[in-house]
Amino acid sequence: MSFNVLVVNCGSSSIKYQVFDMTDERVLAQGLVDRVGILGTVLTHKRNNGTDDVVIVKDLPDHTVGMKLVLETLIHAEYGVIKDLSEINAVGHRVVHGADYFSRSVLITDEVKQAIRDCFNIAPLHNPPNLMGIEACQALMPNVPHVAVFDTAFHQTMKPANYMYALPYEVYEKYKIRRYGFHGTSHYYVTQRAAAMLNKPLKDTKIITLHLGNGASAAAVNGGSVVDTSMGYTPLEGLVMGTRCGNIDPYIVIFLMEKLNMGSTEINSYLNNKTGALGLSGVSNDFRDISEAAEGGNPRAQLTLQVYVNRVKGYIGTYIAALNGCDCIVFTAGLGENAVNIREMICENMDYLGIKIDKDKNKVRGREVDVAADDSKVRIFVIPTNEELVIARDTYDIANVNPV
Ligand code: AMP
Repeated sequence: MSFNVLVVNCGSSSIKYQVFDMTDERVLAQGLVDRVGILGTVLTHKRNNGTDDVVIVKDLPDHTVGMKLVLETLIHAEYGVIKDLSEINAVGHRVVHGADYFSRSVLITDEVKQAIRDCFNIAPLHNPPNLMGIEACQALMPNVPHVAVFDTAFHQTMKPANYMYALPYEVYEKYKIRRYGFHGTSHYYVTQRAAAMLNKPLKDTKIITLHLGNGASAAAVNGGSVVDTSMGYTPLEGLVMGTRCGNIDPYIVIFLMEKLNMGSTEINSYLNNKTGALGLSGVSNDFRDISEAAEGGNPRAQLTLQVYVNRVKGYIGTYIAALNGCDCIVFTAGLGENAVNIREMICENMDYLGIKIDKDKNKVRGREVDVAADDSKVRIFVIPTNEELVIARDTYDIANVNPV
């Protein structure tokens, strides 16, 4: 019997969705509603049957109306993929912050919603739209199980020695200030795939995962459990990202607030949107543009790539030390899967640590492959991530033990 899962990822002004037929984990349709709550909302709907994308432009005031349009699209006589809503058996929701409340995916109850709400102050950009999406879907599909899958959950195995900051202990007790880590669903997925590619039981593996997209994070995973990860209390910490600076001297924040006359809202927006590769290069937040500019001789673009690469190299070194060795390094997400030049730069001059890339094998994009040289002690894997599939699988599993 077929079992369809709708996967929903609500951002502040967007709704991403995918419908999976879990009998064979096939994607029936996927799409994006962009500019929700802003004039000129655009829904782009793709079916998995080779037909053209459907684009609908319509002003949508909020996520509930946006979700309604998604569901109408899914059952549309001409371009829908199911006959009616009773063919959606469960809904999986991406939730960014679960703090230390959730170490795995859960069936959404009123208590779960309250915990998501309790995280609003530590994830103000993400958790409110995530909850909005949950409530919109529950209102439209009240009779199916809804499951929350948290970006933070996979990192909950970190020990206090890795997640605590050297701040007065009271701020941890009072405000839960500690490192949480993000992109957990992606790190989890590629860890599983890497163990399969190593042909080893997960419990015997030491894996470093590099999720390098517009947001970026690294994780050290020992025997399937996260030991350390580069993002912290918020997704601002760690690697250099498209528009986020990652690690900087904390005093710089104070200095800039004074010099540029910024309050907390302005500095938050500045650090999230104006720094990182965009700020340093002055070219773009997209590494395709930066690489092109660097090749064309733009010195700031060249510098940006070097700063970016050096930070990643630093985390690889730190994590090899944390794991006392490493079977493989995994490159994933937009840049990790596609940026041949940056993968090569990251792995350059790392042979002391047993990391040697094969430049010819590395000339690949977006497919699972080992790009390490034959004599490299550490394998180097490119693995396309699939966070939606993890959400669909967790939702399927939880829905089957908790039918509504
Ligand atoms: P994601 O957040 O995983 O969707 O990744 C998006 C980012 O991946 C883009 O903003 C680019 O910076 C980067 N990216 C995608 N393709 C390439 C490529 N061929 N070369 C360099 N960077 C890429």
